[in-house]
Order: sequence, then structure tokens, then C-alpha cells
Amino acid sequence: MNYDLIIVGGGAAGFFTAINVAENNPKLKIAILERGKDVLSKVRVSGGGRCNVTHAEFIPNELSKNYPRGEKELKGPFNTFMTGDTMAWFDERGVSLKIENDGRIFPVSDSSQTIIDCFLSEARKFGVEILTNHSVKNFCFENENWSVKSNHGDFITEKLMIATGSNPKIWKLLQELNHETIDPVPSLFTFNIKDSRIKDLPGVVTEARVKVKNSKLSSQGPLLITHWGMSGPAVLKLSAWGAIELNSNQYTFEIIVNWLNNLTLHEVIEEFKFFKANNPRQQVFKNTQFGIPKRLWQSLVLTSEIDRSTRWADISKVQLHKLAEELTNGKFKVQGKSTFKEEFVTAGGIDLKEINFKTFESKKHKNLYFAGEVLNIDAITGGFNFQNAWTGAFIAAQAITS
Ligand SMILES: Cc1cc2nc3c(=O)[nH]c(=O)nc-3n(C[C@H](O)[C@H](O)[C@H](O)COP(=O)(O)OP(=O)(O)OC[C@H]3O[C@@H](n4cnc5c(N)ncnc54)[C@H](O)[C@@H]3O)c2cc1C
Repeated sequence: MNYDLIIVGGGAAGFFTAINVAENNPKLKIAILERGKDVLSKVRVSGGGRCNVTHAEFIPNELSKNYPRGEKELKGPFNTFMTGDTMAWFDERGVSLKIENDGRIFPVSDSSQTIIDCFLSEARKFGVEILTNHSVKNFCFENENWSVKSNHGDFITEKLMIATGSNPKIWKLLQELNHETIDPVPSLFTFNIKDSRIKDLPGVVTEARVKVKNSKLSSQGPLLITHWGMSGPAVLKLSAWGAIELNSNQYTFEIIVNWLNNLTLHEVIEEFKFFKANNPRQQVFKNTQFGIPKRLWQSLVLTSEIDRSTRWADISKVQLHKLAEELTNGKFKVQGKSTFKEEFVTAGGIDLKEINFKTFESKKHKNLYFAGEVLNIDAITGGFNFQNAWTGAFIAAQAITS
């Protein structure tokens, strides 16, 4: 069977490419080959079933800072197609989006099915063939065309888009075509920590600064205490930027948590002197300070060997120092990681040096394009991973039809 364009992978990047190519040139014969029995299965589960399609960051250089791998390469592409364009794209096709307080953008319906319905109806409208249960086993360039072998027959196509996400088998095939790939490691995970200070505090959220000991890795933001350790943006950011480093430590390392963000030990001790002078009769345990959650304060007070009845006037220098240390320099041992259920992502993929980011075409092979997670690009949580898929797919579609 002969096609103008075959897209391997019926996910976010695959559909976005197909629809944009078909709109640019409705005469082209296009097929999507998808190994699963359903298409768009990651879109379905994304954002807890709501699909966080993109993020309200509208400055290309700022947007690119959310990509631990891909920051430099995506600056140019974001000047062509980015978050505002994504919003307009969906709006023009009848999908209303809303911006939440933290900048994440979702369909107004709060259902990923809206996005899936939009993609399926657009693809059908333009006659894109969607071939499910077609697992691609091989592809090679011969006689000026790409020959694609699947478990359900062979195909010939002039142009080939690989949008297979993080499937290592496809990376292996690409290595055989002389493409370099970066080995996959997980990104976006939470930290497993067993520690009496946080054992009884699941659900507590506070703004904190977190550093990995003996490393340059550091982040700041909301930190969520969970049943198994720590999560929240401060931890997820570290997991994304530290994906490779933390993997090489086999996820065993120490973190230093400053529950007061940028306050130093010295500044906190100075504040304590003020509390002693002004609240001498107040019990330290009950007198939560610095706006941190009460349960966290009480746990750190007890850890500092200050008993429940001790008043500010009676607290010793050693106890004060210990409490200040716990508040600004709390050391925790991380032993392992857990999957972040809302969104998990893999770092690794095709080496970005081998891609022309003006077209998303391979620098090594003519008429071979890539978009989405198959590339060594990944982002922190918040809608940025889909934005990478939309941007790459849109630009590739322009190049394919130019
Ligand atoms: C649980 C979860 C929630 C997420 N939530 C969000 C979110 O809300 N916002 C966000 O920005 N990102 C989110 N992400 C990340 C986001 O889903 C991915 O970055 C995005 O789906 C990548 O799109 P893609 O098209 O490159 O790959 P995929 O969506 O993974 O699609 C690849 C497709 O290729 C198919 N395929 C693979 N190999 C073959 C083969 N050999 N032959 C044929 N077909 C093949 C696969 O079956 C799959 O359908 C989430 C991820 C997960 C796991």
C-alpha cells in the first residue's frame, strides 16, 4: 500500500501531525499506524483524566526553561508555535480551554475525552486512515521511498513521521539507521523517605527550598508530604533536572530541606530572640511561627527535644539552635523513588544534535521526521510535555507540506 505520509504512533504527536498535514494539503494520502488496539491512550489518562494540554507561559524563552532536556533546541520552535497557538488551535476546532490558578491549561469540560473526540473527528474529516493493532517492526529507505513493515502488512510511503513516544524498540531501529540515542531514565518521580519527622504528616503542603547534598541540584516551590515521603512541585522539579544524576546514584541520596525557603539559620536565631522577648509565657509547641503548617512546626519542635510544655522564656540555647537547624537545614535520606501518577515521563531518546529544529526532520535521512517524546526532550509537570508534542508536530507538518 502506498502513502504520501505514514505516521508511526497514534498518540498526541502522531495525531497533531496528521491533522495539520491533512489541513494543509487534503489531497495527501495519510495513515497512522498504531500498535495498540486504541489510539491516544496516554492522552486519555493524562492530567488525571482531565488532560493538561499546555501551560499559560507565553514567552518562548521562559517557556523553554521548563525543559531540562530540550531547553536550547526548543527556543526557535517555540517562536513558531507555542502555548498561545495551541490554545487558538483548539479554540478554532470548538474545544474551549481554561487556565487554572497555577497556570495549567485544561479543557473546560475537565475531560480528556474532549481532546480525543476533537482529534478523531478532525482526522476522520480529512480521511486520515487510522490503523490500530499495527505494530511497526522495521523501516528502511529504498528506491526513494520509505518501506515500513508491520505485523499486519507492509507499506510504502514518501515521507515517514516517527511519533512512537518512549518505545525503546524504535530507538533500537533508529540506531540501526545510524541515529544516536540517549538511554532512557525516568523523569518526574517522587522521593521515598522514611523519617519520624514526617511520618504522621501526609497531606501537609508548604513552600520550601530543597537541595540535593553534594550536588548543584536545588529547587523551590510547594512541597507535599506523602505517605511514602515527599512530592509536590519542589520535588518533581528536582527529579526532572536530576533525572540522570539521581539515576546514577540509584535514587539513594540526601536532601536538605529549608522549610523557611530563603531564611538562614542566623536569621531564624535572631527571630527566636524576638519571640523569647515578646512571648515569654507562650508554649513553643503551640506557638507556630513563620507561617509554616502547625503540624510540621510541632513535629520539628519535638524533634528538637523541646517538650510540649516548654515556654519561650525557658528554652535553652542548644534547643533554639537545634530548632533553627531543623527549620532551615533539615537533612533527609532518600531511599528510592515512586511514580508520580498524574504524569510520568521518560528522559532519553534521539540525540537532539541529529534533528533540524526548523523542520523536525532527521539530519541523517531525507523525509524522516520526529515529534514528541521519541526525541530526547522532556519537561516538568504542568502541560509542558504535551506542548513539546504539539510544537514538534506542527512544525513537521509545515515542513512535510511545504
Ligand atoms: C499518566 C500520564 C499522565 C500524563 N499527563 C500529562 C499531562 O496532563 N500533560 C502533559 O503535558 N503531559 C502529560 N504526560 C506526558 C505526555 O502524555 C507525553 O509527553 C505525550 O503523550 C507524548 O506524546 P507522544 O505522541 O510523543 O507519545 P505517546 O503519547 O506515548 O504516543 C506514542 C504512540 O506510539 C505508539 N507506538 C509505539 N511504538 C509503536 C510501534 N512500534 N508501532 C506502532 N505504534 C507504536 C504507542 O502505542 C503510542 O500510542 C502524561 C504521561 C503519563 C504517563
